[in-house]
Amino acid sequence: MNRDELRAQLAFYADLGVTDLYRREAPPVLETQEAAQVSARIAQAPAEPQSAPPQTKPEPTVLIPLTPTDDTLEKIQQDIGDNCRRCRLCEQRSKIVFGSGSANARLVFVGEGPGADEDAQGVPFVGRAGQLLTQMIENTASKEGIPIKRPDVYICNVVKCRPPENRTPLPDEMEICGEFLFRQLMTIQPKAICALGSTAAKALLATKDGVTRLRGKWHKWRDIPLMVTYHPSYLLRPYNQDAKREAWEDLKKVLHYVYD
Ligand code: URA
Repeated sequence: MNRDELRAQLAFYADLGVTDLYRREAPPVLETQEAAQVSARIAQAPAEPQSAPPQTKPEPTVLIPLTPTDDTLEKIQQDIGDNCRRCRLCEQRSKIVFGSGSANARLVFVGEGPGADEDAQGVPFVGRAGQLLTQMIENTASKEGIPIKRPDVYICNVVKCRPPENRTPLPDEMEICGEFLFRQLMTIQPKAICALGSTAAKALLATKDGVTRLRGKWHKWRDIPLMVTYHPSYLLRPYNQDAKREAWEDLKKVLHYVYD
Protein backbone atom coordinates (compact mmCIF):
# COMPACT_ATOMS: atom_id res chain seq x y z
CA MET A 1 0.00 0.00 0.00
CA ASN A 2 1.55 3.35 -0.99
CA ARG A 3 1.24 6.63 0.89
CA ASP A 4 -1.84 7.91 -1.01
CA GLU A 5 -3.65 4.59 -0.69
CA LEU A 6 -2.86 4.57 3.03
CA ARG A 7 -4.14 8.14 3.39
CA ALA A 8 -7.38 7.26 1.53
CA GLN A 9 -7.78 4.15 3.67
CA LEU A 10 -7.34 6.12 6.89
CA ALA A 11 -9.86 8.73 5.70
CA PHE A 12 -12.28 5.88 5.06
CA TYR A 13 -11.81 4.54 8.59
CA ALA A 14 -12.21 8.07 10.00
CA ASP A 15 -15.50 8.44 8.09
CA LEU A 16 -16.65 5.27 9.80
CA GLY A 17 -15.67 6.73 13.17
CA VAL A 18 -12.75 4.29 13.55
CA THR A 19 -9.77 6.16 14.95
CA ASP A 20 -7.85 3.40 16.77
CA LEU A 21 -5.91 1.11 14.48
CA TYR A 22 -3.82 -1.89 15.37
CA ARG A 23 -0.90 -3.57 13.71
CA ARG A 24 -1.30 -6.98 12.23
CA GLU A 25 1.43 -9.15 10.81
CA ALA A 26 1.30 -9.50 7.07
CA PRO A 27 0.83 -13.11 6.05
CA PRO A 28 3.85 -14.21 4.00
CA VAL A 29 3.06 -14.70 0.34
CA LEU A 30 4.36 -18.10 -0.73
CA GLU A 31 4.26 -19.92 -4.00
CA THR A 32 2.18 -23.09 -3.74
CA GLN A 33 5.13 -25.51 -3.88
CA GLU A 34 7.16 -23.43 -1.43
CA ALA A 35 4.13 -23.20 0.86
CA ALA A 36 3.79 -26.99 0.84
CA GLN A 37 7.49 -27.41 1.76
CA VAL A 38 7.15 -24.90 4.60
CA SER A 39 4.04 -26.66 5.94
CA ALA A 40 5.91 -30.01 5.83
CA ARG A 41 8.89 -28.48 7.71
CA ILE A 42 6.56 -27.00 10.35
CA ALA A 43 4.84 -30.37 10.78
CA GLN A 44 8.21 -32.12 11.31
CA ALA A 45 9.80 -29.50 13.57
CA PRO A 46 9.82 -30.12 17.32
CA ALA A 47 7.45 -27.86 19.20
CA GLU A 48 9.12 -24.69 20.49
CA PRO A 49 9.19 -24.28 24.26
CA GLN A 50 6.39 -21.94 25.35
CA SER A 51 8.82 -19.69 27.21
CA ALA A 52 10.94 -18.90 24.14
CA PRO A 53 10.46 -15.34 22.92
CA PRO A 54 8.83 -15.24 19.51
CA GLN A 55 11.44 -14.94 16.78
CA THR A 56 9.51 -12.54 14.60
CA LYS A 57 11.00 -9.66 12.73
CA PRO A 58 8.91 -6.52 12.35
CA GLU A 59 6.46 -6.81 9.50
CA PRO A 60 4.95 -3.93 7.54
CA THR A 61 1.63 -2.60 8.81
CA VAL A 62 -1.26 -4.05 6.85
CA LEU A 63 -4.64 -2.37 7.05
CA ILE A 64 -7.44 -4.79 6.38
CA PRO A 65 -9.28 -3.36 3.40
CA LEU A 66 -12.92 -2.69 4.22
CA THR A 67 -13.60 -2.01 0.58
CA PRO A 68 -12.50 -4.73 -1.77
CA THR A 69 -11.03 -3.28 -4.95
CA ASP A 70 -13.32 -5.41 -7.10
CA ASP A 71 -16.49 -4.43 -5.23
CA THR A 72 -19.87 -4.58 -6.95
CA LEU A 73 -23.40 -3.80 -5.80
CA GLU A 74 -24.17 -7.54 -5.96
CA LYS A 75 -21.22 -8.33 -3.70
CA ILE A 76 -22.21 -5.64 -1.19
CA GLN A 77 -25.75 -7.00 -1.11
CA GLN A 78 -24.40 -10.52 -0.63
CA ASP A 79 -22.21 -9.29 2.22
CA ILE A 80 -25.25 -7.77 3.93
CA GLY A 81 -26.98 -11.11 3.49
CA ASP A 82 -30.65 -12.05 3.46
CA ASN A 83 -31.00 -11.96 7.20
CA CYS A 84 -28.62 -9.30 8.50
CA ARG A 85 -28.56 -9.18 12.32
CA ARG A 86 -25.80 -6.61 12.80
CA CYS A 87 -28.05 -4.16 14.68
CA ARG A 88 -31.38 -4.02 16.50
CA LEU A 89 -33.24 -2.78 13.40
CA CYS A 90 -33.40 -6.40 12.23
CA GLU A 91 -35.91 -7.18 14.97
CA GLN A 92 -38.90 -5.47 13.39
CA ARG A 93 -38.04 -5.16 9.72
CA SER A 94 -39.75 -7.21 7.05
CA LYS A 95 -37.40 -6.63 4.11
CA ILE A 96 -33.91 -5.25 3.82
CA VAL A 97 -34.02 -2.27 1.47
CA PHE A 98 -30.69 -2.24 -0.31
CA GLY A 99 -31.15 0.33 -3.09
CA SER A 100 -32.55 0.69 -6.58
CA GLY A 101 -31.57 2.17 -9.89
CA SER A 102 -28.62 2.05 -12.22
CA ALA A 103 -25.25 0.67 -11.08
CA ASN A 104 -23.73 3.19 -13.54
CA ALA A 105 -25.77 6.12 -12.24
CA ARG A 106 -24.13 9.52 -12.44
CA LEU A 107 -26.31 10.73 -9.59
CA VAL A 108 -27.10 9.00 -6.28
CA PHE A 109 -29.83 10.10 -3.84
CA VAL A 110 -29.36 9.07 -0.23
CA GLY A 111 -32.32 9.09 2.15
CA GLU A 112 -32.60 8.21 5.82
CA GLY A 113 -34.13 4.75 6.10
CA PRO A 114 -37.05 2.73 4.79
CA GLY A 115 -40.61 3.54 5.84
CA ALA A 116 -43.56 1.13 6.00
CA ASP A 117 -44.07 0.84 2.21
CA GLU A 118 -40.37 0.36 1.56
CA ASP A 119 -40.16 -2.24 4.33
CA ALA A 120 -43.02 -4.17 2.76
CA GLN A 121 -41.68 -4.02 -0.82
CA GLY A 122 -37.90 -4.03 -0.26
CA VAL A 123 -37.52 -0.99 -2.54
CA PRO A 124 -36.47 2.51 -1.41
CA PHE A 125 -38.70 5.56 -1.79
CA VAL A 126 -41.92 3.94 -3.00
CA GLY A 127 -44.33 5.44 -0.45
CA ARG A 128 -45.70 8.99 -0.49
CA ALA A 129 -42.31 10.60 0.01
CA GLY A 130 -40.90 8.31 -2.67
CA GLN A 131 -43.60 9.29 -5.15
CA LEU A 132 -42.80 12.93 -4.51
CA LEU A 133 -39.08 12.24 -5.01
CA THR A 134 -39.78 10.44 -8.30
CA GLN A 135 -41.93 13.35 -9.49
CA MET A 136 -39.33 15.87 -8.43
CA ILE A 137 -36.59 14.07 -10.34
CA GLU A 138 -38.61 13.36 -13.47
CA ASN A 139 -40.54 16.66 -13.68
CA THR A 140 -37.55 18.86 -12.95
CA ALA A 141 -35.41 16.94 -15.42
CA SER A 142 -38.09 17.17 -18.08
CA LYS A 143 -38.64 20.92 -17.54
CA GLU A 144 -34.90 21.50 -17.72
CA GLY A 145 -34.54 19.45 -20.91
CA ILE A 146 -32.58 16.67 -19.21
CA PRO A 147 -33.62 13.26 -20.56
CA ILE A 148 -33.53 11.13 -17.42
CA LYS A 149 -36.05 9.07 -15.49
CA ARG A 150 -35.87 7.63 -12.00
CA PRO A 151 -34.23 4.32 -13.11
CA ASP A 152 -31.27 6.32 -14.49
CA VAL A 153 -30.25 7.48 -11.01
CA TYR A 154 -29.49 5.35 -7.95
CA ILE A 155 -31.49 5.66 -4.74
CA CYS A 156 -30.61 4.22 -1.35
CA ASN A 157 -30.68 5.00 2.35
CA VAL A 158 -28.28 5.37 5.25
CA VAL A 159 -29.86 2.40 7.04
CA LYS A 160 -31.27 -0.52 5.11
CA CYS A 161 -33.90 -1.62 7.64
CA ARG A 162 -36.95 0.31 8.80
CA PRO A 163 -36.55 1.94 12.21
CA PRO A 164 -39.57 1.19 14.43
CA GLU A 165 -42.28 3.88 14.14
CA ASN A 166 -40.05 5.58 11.55
CA ARG A 167 -37.83 6.98 14.27
CA THR A 168 -34.51 8.54 13.31
CA PRO A 169 -31.76 5.91 13.08
CA LEU A 170 -29.46 5.85 16.10
CA PRO A 171 -25.74 6.63 15.74
CA ASP A 172 -24.61 3.00 16.13
CA GLU A 173 -27.18 1.84 13.54
CA MET A 174 -25.94 4.50 11.13
CA GLU A 175 -22.34 3.54 11.75
CA ILE A 176 -22.89 -0.18 11.20
CA CYS A 177 -24.97 0.26 8.04
CA GLY A 178 -22.83 3.21 6.90
CA GLU A 179 -20.13 0.75 5.86
CA PHE A 180 -22.47 -0.59 3.19
CA LEU A 181 -23.63 2.86 2.09
CA PHE A 182 -20.01 3.96 1.66
CA ARG A 183 -19.26 0.86 -0.36
CA GLN A 184 -22.30 1.52 -2.57
CA LEU A 185 -21.11 5.05 -3.23
CA MET A 186 -17.53 4.02 -3.87
CA THR A 187 -18.63 1.30 -6.25
CA ILE A 188 -20.99 3.50 -8.23
CA GLN A 189 -18.61 6.50 -8.18
CA PRO A 190 -21.33 8.95 -9.21
CA LYS A 191 -20.58 12.43 -10.50
CA ALA A 192 -22.63 13.84 -7.60
CA ILE A 193 -24.55 12.77 -4.52
CA CYS A 194 -27.74 14.36 -3.24
CA ALA A 195 -28.28 13.88 0.51
CA LEU A 196 -31.97 14.03 1.40
CA GLY A 197 -32.46 15.45 4.88
CA SER A 198 -30.35 15.76 7.96
CA THR A 199 -29.69 12.06 8.65
CA ALA A 200 -28.11 11.56 5.23
CA ALA A 201 -26.18 14.82 5.62
CA LYS A 202 -24.90 13.75 9.04
CA ALA A 203 -23.87 10.33 7.79
CA LEU A 204 -22.02 11.66 4.77
CA LEU A 205 -20.59 14.93 6.02
CA ALA A 206 -20.04 14.06 9.69
CA THR A 207 -21.61 17.39 10.63
CA LYS A 208 -24.11 18.51 13.23
CA ASP A 209 -25.36 21.37 11.03
CA GLY A 210 -28.97 21.18 9.95
CA VAL A 211 -30.34 21.08 6.42
CA THR A 212 -31.27 24.79 6.37
CA ARG A 213 -27.64 25.66 6.87
CA LEU A 214 -26.16 23.01 4.57
CA ARG A 215 -28.57 23.06 1.62
CA GLY A 216 -28.02 24.81 -1.67
CA LYS A 217 -24.21 24.67 -1.46
CA TRP A 218 -21.77 22.11 -2.74
CA HIS A 219 -19.99 19.94 -0.19
CA LYS A 220 -17.87 16.86 -0.75
CA TRP A 221 -18.05 13.24 0.27
CA ARG A 222 -14.51 12.06 -0.43
CA ASP A 223 -13.89 13.64 -3.83
CA ILE A 224 -17.51 13.50 -4.93
CA PRO A 225 -19.54 16.74 -4.96
CA LEU A 226 -22.50 16.48 -2.61
CA MET A 227 -25.61 18.62 -2.37
CA VAL A 228 -27.84 18.57 0.70
CA THR A 229 -31.52 19.27 0.31
CA TYR A 230 -34.76 18.74 2.22
CA HIS A 231 -36.10 15.25 2.70
CA PRO A 232 -39.26 14.72 0.59
CA SER A 233 -41.25 13.80 3.74
CA TYR A 234 -40.58 17.28 5.04
CA LEU A 235 -41.79 18.75 1.75
CA LEU A 236 -45.07 16.84 2.09
CA ARG A 237 -46.04 18.96 5.05
CA PRO A 238 -48.46 21.64 3.80
CA TYR A 239 -46.80 24.69 5.32
CA ASN A 240 -43.35 24.24 3.79
CA GLN A 241 -43.80 26.29 0.61
CA ASP A 242 -40.41 28.00 0.87
CA ALA A 243 -38.68 24.66 1.44
CA LYS A 244 -40.38 23.23 -1.67
CA ARG A 245 -39.11 26.08 -3.82
CA GLU A 246 -35.64 25.72 -2.34
CA ALA A 247 -35.61 21.93 -2.88
CA TRP A 248 -36.48 22.48 -6.54
CA GLU A 249 -33.64 24.99 -6.83
CA ASP A 250 -31.24 22.51 -5.25
CA LEU A 251 -32.35 19.73 -7.56
CA LYS A 252 -31.98 21.90 -10.66
CA LYS A 253 -28.45 22.73 -9.59
CA VAL A 254 -27.60 19.05 -9.13
CA LEU A 255 -29.20 17.91 -12.38
CA HIS A 256 -27.45 20.57 -14.45
CA TYR A 257 -24.11 19.85 -12.81
CA VAL A 258 -24.41 16.13 -13.48
CA TYR A 259 -26.05 16.02 -16.90
CA ASP A 260 -25.06 19.22 -18.78
N1 URA B 1 -37.77 7.85 3.57
C1 URA B 1 -36.47 7.54 3.40
O1 URA B 1 -35.59 8.19 3.93
N2 URA B 1 -36.18 6.51 2.64
C2 URA B 1 -37.09 5.77 2.05
O2 URA B 1 -36.72 4.81 1.35
C3 URA B 1 -38.43 6.12 2.22
C4 URA B 1 -38.77 7.16 2.98
